[in-house]
Amino acid sequence: TAHEETLGFQTEVKQLLHLMIHSLYSNREIFLRELISNAADACDKLRYAALDNDALYEGDSELRIEIEHDEKSATVTVRDNGIGMSRDEVIKNLGTIARSGTAEFLQQLSGEQQKDARLIGQFGVGFYSSFIVADEVTVRTRKAGSPKGEGVEWHSKGEGEFSVADLERELHGTEIVLHLKQDAKEFADDFRLQSLVRKYSDHIEVPVRMPRVEAAKDDEGNEIEGSEVTTWETVNEATALWVRPKSEISDDEYKAFYKHVAHDFSDPLTWSHNKVEGKLEYTSLLYVPGRAPFDLYERDGSRGVKLYVQRVFIMDDAEQFLPLYLRFIKGVLDTRELSLNVSRELLQQDPKVDKIKSALTKRALDMLKKLAKDQEAYQNFWNTFGSVLKEGPAEDFANREKIAALLRFSTTHTDSATQDQSLADYVSRMKEGQEKIYYIVADGFNAAKSSPHLEIFRKKGIEVVLLHDRIDEWLMSHLHEFEGKRFVDVAKGELDLGDIEGEEEKKAQEETAKAKEDLVKRVKASLGDAVQEVKVTHRLTDSPACVVLPEHEMGYQMRRIMEAAGQ
Ligand code: ADP
Ligand code: MG
Repeated sequence: TAHEETLGFQTEVKQLLHLMIHSLYSNREIFLRELISNAADACDKLRYAALDNDALYEGDSELRIEIEHDEKSATVTVRDNGIGMSRDEVIKNLGTIARSGTAEFLQQLSGEQQKDARLIGQFGVGFYSSFIVADEVTVRTRKAGSPKGEGVEWHSKGEGEFSVADLERELHGTEIVLHLKQDAKEFADDFRLQSLVRKYSDHIEVPVRMPRVEAAKDDEGNEIEGSEVTTWETVNEATALWVRPKSEISDDEYKAFYKHVAHDFSDPLTWSHNKVEGKLEYTSLLYVPGRAPFDLYERDGSRGVKLYVQRVFIMDDAEQFLPLYLRFIKGVLDTRELSLNVSRELLQQDPKVDKIKSALTKRALDMLKKLAKDQEAYQNFWNTFGSVLKEGPAEDFANREKIAALLRFSTTHTDSATQDQSLADYVSRMKEGQEKIYYIVADGFNAAKSSPHLEIFRKKGIEVVLLHDRIDEWLMSHLHEFEGKRFVDVAKGELDLGDIEGEEEKKAQEETAKAKEDLVKRVKASLGDAVQEVKVTHRLTDSPACVVLPEHEMGYQMRRIMEAAGQ
């Protein structure tokens, strides 16, 4: 073929391929889900591009996916008439991994099969999963709207390199031919493929078709010997899942759809499906993933929902519809409030976007509130996404009470590093006369737990929230009260235990302070400018002295963050 070149896979791809083939063996069938998912995405993209330019359909606007197999040659073919790829796109998409977080991901792979399978699933397997079942893969594609001579043929044995060559291709879109490995030939089977298509792609709106070969019939309906006709039968349900009534959708269908939307491998923790009519019309289907994606803390990590306008796919990762602290939420938004030619730039200016954003934010927070009723599931969520949710009160002032109710902490009640106590739990255990929620911030759990500032609280049996995450001081600087109870840092300012202390106790403290005036003077003299003030305290029961910050001073954690930022 003309203009053929052989290229090496990017190192990351080689590593991924090698490890994937070995660790995903017991989950091989997912290759079909991935290829159908890509084909469906390609159809969505063409439909979107054709909104502006009908000619891109090249006279064939019936988008579809076709799956064929051949037992004799042990091949499976997945074909779509979607957007297709140019030569450059083929080289980039099927030769590299361009996602952020890739390096970290690869570093964590250990060669230990089960652990790697989990990590790879979490990262997303995509097109390369073809090589779990195939020892040779051929891709033929042509970008919709480009000349017939600009087709491309990609070929690889998955062993480090691939070739690309020019191809004359009548059809636009992409065809992927898998040559099955000896031990994967079972997939070249009509029944097997059909049941996999049902399992994985019922929720995809594009019809997935398989050929039926039958004897041809004459006008009177009698079979004509020796002649055959092929008819195409749609195997999947082929309606967009979110359009269907909730009552008709099974949990398995919701889960399968999640995997398609989130490019995830594992089940979601929960979801919330809503159709809203009236002033603001939209349908949303939001999911809480079961695992953190690799790019959760990457600045350019992918986030946001898949946006549809009146069922037409518009874009992936529309991040304008959810706040940053809910960036782990995945899902679909379909609305008639926006125009079909909306772009990322236009989204930023449209006031309707803000309205939908605040509606979806409420939905997401409500979904988490519901999830919190299941303690085990919520703990799982919290351990994975808790520190992201802690960004909430700073970013979303209006919802900070709701968010605060969703937070979980370590406290002296359990004295455990596991963050599993809610503020409502704390409030329910408050002592008679206690008006404030006490907390301490430290660099680690042990430092927090064994701080001398806690001595008096422990003695009196008053619970203190133990904050030890990097983000906690930032969080507390935006969280002033919960259910009307003010937050008080026990390491700052005067210690006021309010009505918890009796009058006698207070009197006794004042007397002690008077008696020790001389000692205080001497200590102050010897410490000089190193301290602002020396005071007698009743904070301590065992330790002789401790350092206290003035009430409005920046805490240690914040100082360190500011210093690290060069301020
Ligand atoms: P992902 O789908 O998560 O982006 P994949 O590895 O599955 O990752 O696919 C990589 C890229 O290859 C896709 O983003 C897409 O650009 C391209 N691609 C894969 N399959 C097709 C297809 N059938 N038609 C057009 N482009 C495709
Ligand atoms: Mg994919």
